[in-house]
Amino acid sequence: MAIADIHAFLQDLHTQLKPLSEGQLACYIPELAKADPHWFGLSLVTLDGRSFDVGDAQQTFTIQSISKVFVYGMALEDYGRENLLKKVGVEPTGDPFNSLIRLDADSKRPDNPMVNAGAIATTSLITGKAPADRLNRLLAMFKRYVGREVFIDMSTFLSERATGHRNRAMAHLMLNFGMIDEHIDEALDLYFQQCSVLVNVHDLAVMAATLANQGVNPLTGEQAVGSEHVRDILSVMYTCGMYNFAGEWAFRVGIPAKSGVSGGIIAVVPNQAGIAVFSPLLDEHGNSVRGLRVFEALSKQYGFHLFDLCLGRCRFEAALQGPGGPC
Ligand code: GLN
Repeated sequence: MAIADIHAFLQDLHTQLKPLSEGQLACYIPELAKADPHWFGLSLVTLDGRSFDVGDAQQTFTIQSISKVFVYGMALEDYGRENLLKKVGVEPTGDPFNSLIRLDADSKRPDNPMVNAGAIATTSLITGKAPADRLNRLLAMFKRYVGREVFIDMSTFLSERATGHRNRAMAHLMLNFGMIDEHIDEALDLYFQQCSVLVNVHDLAVMAATLANQGVNPLTGEQAVGSEHVRDILSVMYTCGMYNFAGEWAFRVGIPAKSGVSGGIIAVVPNQAGIAVFSPLLDEHGNSVRGLRVFEALSKQYGFHLFDLCLGRCRFEAALQGPGGPC
C-alpha cells in the first residue's frame, strides 16, 4: 500500500461515517450547543512531517478537555514528577469526567489529571507571578505544540465561566479537603481559558504527533515539552484519557488518547504518528461517536494497537513506504 492509499483509506472512512447521526451535542456549555452536528474532520500527521487531512480539517473549535494533556505536561515541568504525584494521582476513576463522587475526606488528591477535578488541581499548580503571566505561559506552551499562535474563544470562555457551577463545586470541595490552595477563582479562570483555546483537527494531529515524537514538533522542530515527561503524559492518556471508557478504548484501539466535549479526540502512535478526529456528536461518556469509529477502524487497518505485536509497526510503515518497503 502506498501513501495515496492512506489518504484514500481516510477519505473512505469519512464517506462511510459521515451519515452517522447518533449522539448529542454537549449542551451543558451553551456555546458548544451551537456546533454543527455535521462537522467531521480527520487528520494524521507523521513524524517526518507529512499530513493527511480529510473533511472539515480547517473548521475551528475549542480544545476543551484535550487541553488537560498538555497542561499536565507543563505541570510536570513546573513541579516535577514526584511532587506532582503527591497533588494529583494517576489512577483511572471509572466515573464520568465531571464526577464529584471521589472528592471526600479520605481521598488525599484528585484521582488523575484527565478528569475535571484533577485537571483543575493541575492547572492551579501552573507557576507565574500573576494570572496574566500564567495565561501567557500556557498560550506559549500551546504555540510550541501547534506551531503557530493560538487564541482563546472569548464567547466559550465566558459561557463556561458563567455556567461552570459543577467545576466550581469541585474546586470548593478540593479546597475544603486541602487538595488545592485558596486561589480557586484564578485556577478556574485559567482552566476555563485552557478549555477555550481554538484549534482545528490538523492542529490537534500536530500536537499528538509532537507527543509521538518525544516532545518535538515534527513540523517546526521545536521541543514543546521535555522528552523526559512524554512517557508520563502518554501513560496517563492511555489509562485515563477516555474517561469511563478508558478500559474499553485500551482494549479496542490500544493507543494513548484524549477526548474533549467539543468533539475532538487525539491519539498518539508512539514513534509513528499523531491522529485527530473532530465530530461534535457525543456518546454517553462524552466521547465523539464518529471519532471512536474512526480510531477503531484505523487501529485495525494499520495494527496501531500497542499490543498488536506482529502487525504493529510493519503495516503502517509498509503503507508509508509503498512497494519495496520493509514488510
Ligand atoms: N470545559 C469542559 C468542562 O470542564 C471540559 C470537559 C470535557 O471536555 N470533557 O466541563
